[in-house]
Amino acid sequence: MRFSTNAARLVLLFGWLGIGLSFPTFGPGLADDKGDEPKKGQNIITRDVCVIGGGASGTYAATRLRELGHSVVLVEREDHLGGHTRTYFDPAGRPIDYGVWVYSNNTDQVRFFEHFNIATTGQDFTRISQGSQRIDLRTGQSVPPPVGSLVDAMTRYTQVLLQHPYLADGWELPGPVPEDLLLPFRDFIVRYDLGPAVEVLTLYIQGLGDILDYPAVYIMKYFSFGVILGIQSGFTTSASLANIRLYEAAQTELGADALLSSTIIAAQRTDEGHNMLVSTPDGIRLIRADKLIIAIPPLLQNLEPFDLDYRESDLFAQFDYSHYYTTVLNLSGVPQDVQILNRAVDTPYNIPVLPSTYVFYPSQIPALFSGFFGGGTQNLTEEEVRAIIRDNVRQLRNAGYDVSDDPEILAYGNHSPFNLFVSSEAIATGFYRDLYSLQGQRRTWYTGAAWHAHDSAALWQFTERLLQRVIAD
Ligand SMILES: Cc1cc2nc3c(=O)[nH]c(=O)nc-3n(C[C@H](O)[C@H](O)[C@H](O)COP(=O)(O)OP(=O)(O)OC[C@H]3O[C@@H](n4cnc5c(N)ncnc54)[C@H](O)[C@@H]3O)c2cc1C
Repeated sequence: MRFSTNAARLVLLFGWLGIGLSFPTFGPGLADDKGDEPKKGQNIITRDVCVIGGGASGTYAATRLRELGHSVVLVEREDHLGGHTRTYFDPAGRPIDYGVWVYSNNTDQVRFFEHFNIATTGQDFTRISQGSQRIDLRTGQSVPPPVGSLVDAMTRYTQVLLQHPYLADGWELPGPVPEDLLLPFRDFIVRYDLGPAVEVLTLYIQGLGDILDYPAVYIMKYFSFGVILGIQSGFTTSASLANIRLYEAAQTELGADALLSSTIIAAQRTDEGHNMLVSTPDGIRLIRADKLIIAIPPLLQNLEPFDLDYRESDLFAQFDYSHYYTTVLNLSGVPQDVQILNRAVDTPYNIPVLPSTYVFYPSQIPALFSGFFGGGTQNLTEEEVRAIIRDNVRQLRNAGYDVSDDPEILAYGNHSPFNLFVSSEAIATGFYRDLYSLQGQRRTWYTGAAWHAHDSAALWQFTERLLQRVIAD
C-alpha cells in the first residue's frame, strides 16, 4: 500500500473518524453504506466506482454507470452539477445560456438527452439576422471584415483536418507526430492560406488565449470535423434553451449519490481499490471504491490529494492553462439582431488583444446579451473582469451605440482553468502518449476536456468508450 505526502494528515483524519488504517476491515460501530443512498451520519460509502467532478464528462460517467448496473458515488466541488454549463434566469424565468449552449451531434448526445427526457431542438442562428458589427473595443473604432474567400479557406482547413482523422477520437497521435500539428498556429495559417477563415475559427475557439502561439493541433482539436458538421447541418440545444436542465435532471436521478459542495481531501489508491476521505457539508466521510474516474482538469493543484506517484505528478505538472469568463449583461442601446465582435485594428487577422471581451451576443430577452471574455494567461478577479467589460461597453458609444456608462452585469461565470495545453516540444516527445498510458493504472481512469476536446458531445462519446474499458477491467 502506498502513502502520499498526505500520509500524516490521513492518519489523523482516519483516526479522528475512528477508522483503522487496515482498510479491508471496518472500524467498530461504523455504518457501512454498501450501495444504498448515503444517509446522514454514515461514515463509509462503499461503491463500485467513484467519479470526481460533475461537469459534462463526470455527470455522463456517473449516470451511465448506474444505468449499466454499477453503484456509483460522484464528488462535485460546487453545489450543483454542470461544470461549464451556466443558465441565467431573468425575473420572469426566461433562460439565457451563458456557458455551454450548443451540442454537436452523435448517438451518445442523443441518448443522454433522451435518457433524461429532455427535448432538444436545432440551434437558431437567425437571431443575428443583421450579422456582425466588428468593433475595436479598446477605442470603438470600426474594423473591416476579413478579405478573401472564407469558403475557400475553410475548405482548405477541412482538407487538412481530414488528413488527421484520429483527432476525432482523442489524443492518440501517430509517431512521429505530423509536423503540421506541431506548427505554431500562425505558421499553419500561412502554410494553408487560412487568413480569411481566422475570424470564424477564433469565434468558435474562444477561451484559449493567444491562439497564434498555440500548436496547431489544439486548434484542430477544438475546431474539429464535428464542429464543421455542426456549422453545416446545425447544432443541437435544449428546447427549453436552458441547458442546465440536463444537469438538474441528472442531479435528481443521482440523488444522494452525488456529493455536492464536496472535495476529496486525502486518498490512498491501490491496485485492490481506493480509500478516499471526502469533505462534505455533513462532515468528513470515507469513500471505498473499487475504481476511480477522475473527470476534473488534471492539474496538480486539483489532484494533489489523490496520492499521486512521481510519473503522474510529472505529467500533470506540465500543463499550462488559459482563463475564460462569461457574463450576462444589459446592453440596451445595441440592436438585438447583431452580434458585436471585438476585433483589433492593429493585430494580425484583427485578433482582439486580451484580456478583453470576444463577443457580445444577443439573447432572446430584449436588451440582454451574453458576453464572452478572454483572460488569456491572466488570472483576473471578478472585479477586474467586470471593470474591463464596462470599459469595453463604454467604447460602444464611440461606435454610435447609445449604451449606458455603467452597464448592468446580471450574471458572471469564471470558467478557469479552461484550456489545458503543453508545448509543441512536449507533444512531439510523446506527452499525450505518456498521459494516455495512465488510463487504468492504479485502477484510475480519466476523462474530460484535457483528455479529448472542449466539446460536450465529443466528450460523452469519449467517456462512453472509456466506460467500456472501466467495466471490462
Ligand atoms: C463559456 C463556455 C462555452 C462553451 N460552449 C460550448 C458549447 O456550446 N458546446 C460544447 O460542446 N462545448 C462548449 N464548451 C466546452 C465544454 O465546456 C466542455 O466541453 C465541457 O464542459 C468540459 O467538460 P469536462 O467534464 O471536462 O469539465 P467541466 O464541465 O468543467 O466539469 C468539471 C467539473 O469538475 C468540478 N471540479 C473541479 N475541480 C474539482 C475538485 N477538486 N473536486 C470536485 N469537483 C471538482 C467542477 O466544478 C466541474 O463541475 C464551452 C465551454 C465554456 C467555458
